[in-house]
Amino acid sequence: MTDRAAFLDQITLTLRQIETDGLFKRERMITGAQGAHVAIAGRQMLNLCANNYLGLADDPRLIAAARAAMDDHGFGMASVRFICGTQDLHRALETRLAAFLNHDDSILFAACFDANGGLFEPLLGPEDAVISDSLNHASIIDGIRLCKARRYRYANSDMADLEAQLQQARADGARFILIATDGVFSMDGYFARLPEIRALADAHGAMVMVDDCHATGFTGPQGRGTPARAGVQVDLLTGTLGKALGGALGGYIAGPQPVIDLLRQRARPYLFSNALPPAVVGAALAALNIVEAADDLRAQLAANADYWRAGLTDAGFTLLPGEHPIIPVMLEDAKLAQAMAADLYQRGVHVAPFFFPVVPKGAARIRTQMNAAFTRDDLDFALSAFHAAGKATGVLA
Ligand SMILES: *Cc1c(COP(=O)(O)O)cnc(C)c1O
Repeated sequence: MTDRAAFLDQITLTLRQIETDGLFKRERMITGAQGAHVAIAGRQMLNLCANNYLGLADDPRLIAAARAAMDDHGFGMASVRFICGTQDLHRALETRLAAFLNHDDSILFAACFDANGGLFEPLLGPEDAVISDSLNHASIIDGIRLCKARRYRYANSDMADLEAQLQQARADGARFILIATDGVFSMDGYFARLPEIRALADAHGAMVMVDDCHATGFTGPQGRGTPARAGVQVDLLTGTLGKALGGALGGYIAGPQPVIDLLRQRARPYLFSNALPPAVVGAALAALNIVEAADDLRAQLAANADYWRAGLTDAGFTLLPGEHPIIPVMLEDAKLAQAMAADLYQRGVHVAPFFFPVVPKGAARIRTQMNAAFTRDDLDFALSAFHAAGKATGVLA
């Protein structure tokens, strides 16, 4: 057998193992726009698994803003930012984001994955320490791996453990210490304990970085995110344009001026990757204007989340407690989560099962997510589908 054939055999074996373990992910093809309702294989489905918290993904105002930006700024940039890829629109969005998030300045990336991937390495050296929550997003984990700082980890939201790690980092002689946390832990919908994290950071002379992907736009006053909700200022904030802020793509880091200036010189995903296209940037500017004034959408989102939680609880499902529009229905077993999702699909409800490696083994779930665009009828339809699917799969007695 050639090396190539043996290699492909090995890959095929791995795929089969993933399948046997019930961990294989299949993609459903949407044939129209992303929204509260989507067309899949010619059928209208209620969509309970998008990060489309405010329902802006198909908003005509964003589509118009994207079109207008293409009309006066073209389609593509064909350059990284520092060669010839910076338009007035990019700088306008960076200053607009910074003002919205209450930081000196911000810097755009192709995705928040890249923002987190590029943040740590230029700012921290081997004499420094990063202390990371154990449930942080994969992109934070990868970003930390790429930097030379010493790594410390604390159990999810365990403040005693965080304090122990701060003391350990100090004892190890760390020069600068950065605590890194998700603002909201995306698999559970739990908020980071920012007031306590800030207080511990201050007591130990550390800085705080928050990834607010699952918060910006719909959490806190005017949607300014988890620091605003908690009434604390953090040192560095990362986020995405790919969720509540219209759902296209793009990420950013907001923070103190010298930090943003240095990232523009040194962050590798910024230096070696294309500038965001004008349509996305123009629509993001429009999205921020909409979001800042969208108290009505935020109230509707919260009301939908309350109604949905109460309905699922009454039906007998096991949820994780909380108040975030991420509402996980816990099923433990990966195959059961897949069977339940498949059954819901037959009933016209699109949900995604989550299982290892995205969540720990034995903690499989269907993660439902609320959208301000859902009507009461939508939610009642989904509740009766969940009830029927729960009975059909044996999740409900
Ligand atoms: C979605 C998400 C990301 C990645 O954002 P992209 O802009 O899609 O790359 C990073 N961090 C967290 C916490 C997220 O939820």
